[in-house]
Amino acid sequence: MHKTYDVTTVVEWMITSTTFPLGLGDGQFYAWTNGLRRKDWHDYESIQKEALRSGKGEHGKPYPLTEEHHDDSAYRENGFNIFVSNNIALERSLPDIRHANCKHKMYLERLPNTSIIIPFHNEGWTSLLRTIHSIINRTPESLIAEIILVDDFSDREHLKDKLEEYMARFSKVRIVRTKKREGLIRTRLLGASMARGEVLTFLDSHCEVNVNWLPPLLNQIALNHKTIVCPMIDVIDHNHFGSPVMAGGLFAVDRKWFWELGGYDPGLEIWGGEQYEISFKVWMCGGEMFDVPCSRVGHIYRKYVPYKVPSGTSLARIRNVAANLCVDSKHGATGTELRLDICVKDGSERTWSHEQDRTLFHPVSNSCMDCNPAEKKIFMARCDPLSETQQWVFEHINMTVLEKFNHHASS
Ligand code: UDP
Ligand code: MN
Repeated sequence: MHKTYDVTTVVEWMITSTTFPLGLGDGQFYAWTNGLRRKDWHDYESIQKEALRSGKGEHGKPYPLTEEHHDDSAYRENGFNIFVSNNIALERSLPDIRHANCKHKMYLERLPNTSIIIPFHNEGWTSLLRTIHSIINRTPESLIAEIILVDDFSDREHLKDKLEEYMARFSKVRIVRTKKREGLIRTRLLGASMARGEVLTFLDSHCEVNVNWLPPLLNQIALNHKTIVCPMIDVIDHNHFGSPVMAGGLFAVDRKWFWELGGYDPGLEIWGGEQYEISFKVWMCGGEMFDVPCSRVGHIYRKYVPYKVPSGTSLARIRNVAANLCVDSKHGATGTELRLDICVKDGSERTWSHEQDRTLFHPVSNSCMDCNPAEKKIFMARCDPLSETQQWVFEHINMTVLEKFNHHASS
C-alpha cells in the first residue's frame, strides 16, 4: 500500500521538507529526510482495539448526565464532575481528531526518551488514574524513561498507600512527595530534579493523551535541542467529559537545556507567571518554541479551582514599570512574538497589592528583557539596573476570584 502525502497544510509538516516513503518489508514504513531515517510510530494494534470499544464516554463522547448528577456536590472536590469521571472507563477510547496529514507522518527513528512529570495536589482518583492509563496505552514504551508523579502535599486518603499499591503494576511509575505544600512550580521542579530521561515532559494530573502524541514532540527536540514544544491542548469538558478543541500550555523540553535555562524561578507561587518566565528565557537564549499540531493532549478545564491557594500568592500578570503596559497574554502564547499592550482591567476586581519588582534576565547571556514603550516592543538588551524599562512587575490581580476559589475549597 502506498500512502499519499499532502505537504501544503500543516505548518509543522513543512519544517521537515520532503519525505520519501519506502516500505522495508517488515511491516514498518520507513523514510529518509535530510539523511535521517524516519519511521511510522503509530501503534496500529492498539488503535484497532480502541476503535472496538463501546460504552458511555467512549470515543470521547459526552457522558449522558442526569439532573441528580449535575449538582454542585459532584464538582466540589475537584472542580469537575467526579461522578462522570468515576463512571467512564479508565482506558476509554478517544477520537483521533488530528489533522489528516498527521495520520501518516513519520518521525525520526531515533528519538530521545523522556521523563513524564505529573505534579498533583489532591487530584481525584479516577482522573489521575485515567491520566496514567492514557499515557501507558498511547505511548511507545521505549520512549518513556519514567513517569514521575509528584504529590504536592495532598491530604486525600486515596493518594497515599492506595496510590502506591495501584502504581506498583507500572514499573516505570515513581511517586515522590513534597514535605509541605509547594505549589505547582516547585512541585514540577522537584520532579525535574529527580528526572533521568533525556527530555522532560510536563503534564497535569487530569489529562488524556491522544494517539501518537509523544513522537511529534520528541522529534522537534531531536532536531534542535534548544526547543520547547507544546502539544495542542483539547478541552475535556468539566461536566460531561466530551472533548471539543482549544489551545493551551503543557510542554516538553530537553532536560539539560532546561537546567541551562535555570529551570523555573523557584520563587513563583502556586501558579501564575511561569509560562512567561520560561518563555522569556527560551526566547532570550536563542531557543525556539513550537506548538505541535500533531500532538494532542486532552485536559480537564475546571469549573473552579477546588483547592486552597494560600493568600498572598499571585494570579500573576507581568507589567512593565516604565511603560505601564502589560505583556499581552494573547501574544504570550508559545511560538508567537511577545508584545506589550494596554493592561486590561478586570472590572473593579484589580488590586495592586503584593507587587514584586524584578528584572527578567538571562543568566548565561547576561542580557535583560527591555521594552520600547512607544513602539510597544519587547527586546533583549544589556542589563542596566538603572533602566526603568527593564523593570517588570509581577502583579497580583483579581483577589475576588481568589477568594471565591478559597470559598469553594473550604465549603
Ligand atoms: N498543582 C500542584 N500544586 C498546587 C496546585 C496545583 O501540584 O498547589 C498541580 C495540579 O494537580 C495540576 C497542575 O499542578 O496537576 C496544574 O494545576 P491546575 O490543574 O489546578 O491548574 P489549571 O490547569 O486548572 O490551570
Ligand atoms: Mn489542570
